[in-house]
Amino acid sequence: MDANWNFDNSYARLSERFFARLQPTPVSDPELVMLNRSLAEELGLHAEALASEEGVAVFAGNRVPEGAEPLAQAYAGHQFGYFNMLGDGRAILLGEHVTPSGERVDIQLKGSGRTPYSRGGDGRAALGPMLREYIISEAMHALHIPTTRSLAVVTTGEVVIRETELPGAVLTRVAASHLRVGTFQYAARFLSKEELQQLADYAIKRHYPNGEHASNRYVFLLEEVMKKQAALVANWQLVGFVHGVMNTDNMTISGETIDYGPCAFMDVYDPKTVFSSIDTQGRYAYGNQPYMAGWNIARLAESLLPLLHEEEEKAIELAQEIIEQFPAWYETYWLQGMRAKLGLCTEEEEDKKLIGELLHLMYTYRLDYTNTFRALTLDEWHFCEQALLDWYIRWQQRIARQDITKDKVYERMRQHNPAIIPRNYRVEEALAAAVEYGDNTVMERLLYALSAPYAYTKEQEEYAKPPAPSDRPYRTFCGT
Ligand code: AMP
Ligand code: MG
Repeated sequence: MDANWNFDNSYARLSERFFARLQPTPVSDPELVMLNRSLAEELGLHAEALASEEGVAVFAGNRVPEGAEPLAQAYAGHQFGYFNMLGDGRAILLGEHVTPSGERVDIQLKGSGRTPYSRGGDGRAALGPMLREYIISEAMHALHIPTTRSLAVVTTGEVVIRETELPGAVLTRVAASHLRVGTFQYAARFLSKEELQQLADYAIKRHYPNGEHASNRYVFLLEEVMKKQAALVANWQLVGFVHGVMNTDNMTISGETIDYGPCAFMDVYDPKTVFSSIDTQGRYAYGNQPYMAGWNIARLAESLLPLLHEEEEKAIELAQEIIEQFPAWYETYWLQGMRAKLGLCTEEEEDKKLIGELLHLMYTYRLDYTNTFRALTLDEWHFCEQALLDWYIRWQQRIARQDITKDKVYERMRQHNPAIIPRNYRVEEALAAAVEYGDNTVMERLLYALSAPYAYTKEQEEYAKPPAPSDRPYRTFCGT
């Protein structure tokens, strides 16, 4: 049986200046470590064929499936505020797979060798970080947060050199597309206006097809991306996800979370939470994420200026208007999500204050973010501090003012408060077993628990425990 790949590569039909065509670099001894069977099924792919020698050769970059047109994408981006020419330095887009239901997804190999955009890098990836991306992206998907997915991880049989020698690996990433804010920055800075327009038209057709009928399709595109990103970051905040490297090249046009480098979930609630060892200024701290997303949208707006209006002044005015709407959209999504987390189905003026007070109490008493909502959801508010008890009474009074039963309130809360998140120490434990001992069972168990974060099962309880003090502060490293 064949894998059922069905490629149609629209990106490869754009101007040649958007990419470099090249083959992935073969590896010596590929071995399948992870295969996402449920994702394969969703995509109309045959898992058995994917797991066969021929299938694994595709994931390793040793065989290009029929219909694929491998290429590395060109893009630029602001990294920690500084503009750079980037591009896929260690990734290759095999092409776009069209599923039996007509959905179009990018199939990308990450860690597949050097490209013209590699600069000093080796084009490769280590097993640990690729498994980490697999775990966290799949956890995000289960949390109902838009994200790129992970179809497979293979080891290469080769070592990569970071601080030490590490086993090399290739991740197969599935995405609505890999168009980034940085792709537009690249076109605006280095290509012609016609090419910029080609890219914008392409993005509209692929992700915002309603824009094809809008009076100003580029204004429409900017507005839609702005809203999608506002919703996405609100989702991150609601589950305590810290992306860690919100550079403009890591922000998609589709609104999916991308690039699981130094990301991690917050334990104790603190807006200043940073995990990445290189983010010394806290630019991408938890509490800063909404501002940074707004900043990134401003960079997208700048890139689109030549298309927004013929007259520059008018174009700037239009862009400004949209950028300024970001905070309000963000707050709308966030408030909606917070109300759901607290079981509120009506809206009251004072809700924002009630939520703000809870967050402030979490901060003051150094409470675990996820488990505070978990305790509310399970009605296990076992605190002695008067301030926490007072808040609880006010919240109870607030939910009593709604015309629904308490059962319904708690049901709503269970749907919006994850019982478990990928705790950093749990992820590390799973990675250590897999990378050091070739034992995937710890990871498989973790993935299984994370696949239903709203289930509130007995088996999940052990994954809900916050880290021991010795596991803090947790640090992530960019040497991925
Ligand atoms: P990231 O931090 O993963 O968003 O990557 C930023 C840029 O560095 C992108 O252009 C990547 O393709 C590139 N890059 C990261 N790691 C490597 C590597 N090992 N070899 C070549 N390029 C890399
Ligand atoms: Mg990136």
